[in-house]
Amino acid sequence: MADTHRYFPDGLPEQLLRAGDLELLRALERPTLIRVPGSGTQAPRVISALLHGDEVTGLQAVLRILRRRRAYPFDLYVLLGNVPAALAGDGFAHRYLDDQEDFNRVWDVEQVDTPLRAAAADILARLRAARPEALVDVHNNTGDNPFYAIITRRRPEVVNLATLCTTTLLSWDFGAHTLMEALEDECAAIAVECGLPGRPESLAFAVDALRRYLGEPPLATDRVARDHDLLGNLRKVVVAEDVRLRFGGQPGPDADLVLDADADVHNFVELPAGHRLGRVRLGTSASEHPPAMPLRATDTSGADVTDEVLSIEGDALITRVTATPVMMTRTVEAARKDCVFYLADELAHLG
Ligand SMILES: [Zn+2]
Repeated sequence: MADTHRYFPDGLPEQLLRAGDLELLRALERPTLIRVPGSGTQAPRVISALLHGDEVTGLQAVLRILRRRRAYPFDLYVLLGNVPAALAGDGFAHRYLDDQEDFNRVWDVEQVDTPLRAAAADILARLRAARPEALVDVHNNTGDNPFYAIITRRRPEVVNLATLCTTTLLSWDFGAHTLMEALEDECAAIAVECGLPGRPESLAFAVDALRRYLGEPPLATDRVARDHDLLGNLRKVVVAEDVRLRFGGQPGPDADLVLDADADVHNFVELPAGHRLGRVRLGTSASEHPPAMPLRATDTSGADVTDEVLSIEGDALITRVTATPVMMTRTVEAARKDCVFYLADELAHLG
């Protein structure tokens, strides 16, 4: 377990706590797990940040909390995830590196045959051995979204944890080997999505959410404490291979599909069937009319549902059903490395 990650069982050393964000990461070099010993007997709580190297908000929020040097009535575990990706270039520019996988897709996988998978396996073993009560995994979005929390289990304690952070909840059941899913049967595990990185309001939300989490007595397991909205039935929409994508502008020789530059304004807003998401490049020969569908939609079972939810009319790419887009990105890199957006439906809330 030695070299896959760094482990600090007694908190971060003082000189590292005083370092700047990037200075700290340079000293750490690797995925890092920190245990801040608690003063009581409550089950440990976990915060993870930087599973995606370009999502700085979680790191900044958790450092602000750690620098106060508070002791909690439980051991607090803090995971700083893809430190190498966060350090690359000028810092916080890459979700993951070209020679890596996505660090939030490698938890509890069968084949442990890369450094990142080995780090995930060793860190997961430590976290499971600690028998935590809860995990909050802090992320940013690559497009404009309201603050929301992702849950994978509809148990009262999971909903109670999520609604400490925000009452807009998204039910996720893709089985994507995320950290949250790896711990979902052992503790209340959620992800909080804190809007775009680098914005003061994103950081303020994350700090607020984490402070409420750390200040909360043990989570109620027998009742849902707060009203909330719950979206689910997610369908993942990705760019088809070989399709050249752009945000804003007109389709042309260098862009087969152009999504509106501000397509992300529709995140978490229910859209009627027939809503135009973008424009496609029309072919020059008759055989290319109508153009091929440039996006692919799949449901959580992996079934292709593209034709159910999307269609092309003229040069317009439109929705075929009433649905709510979520996590719509505004960057080509995120669209390629993950997805363009998800379509969701409103579900009955709990409690
Ligand atoms: Zn993320």
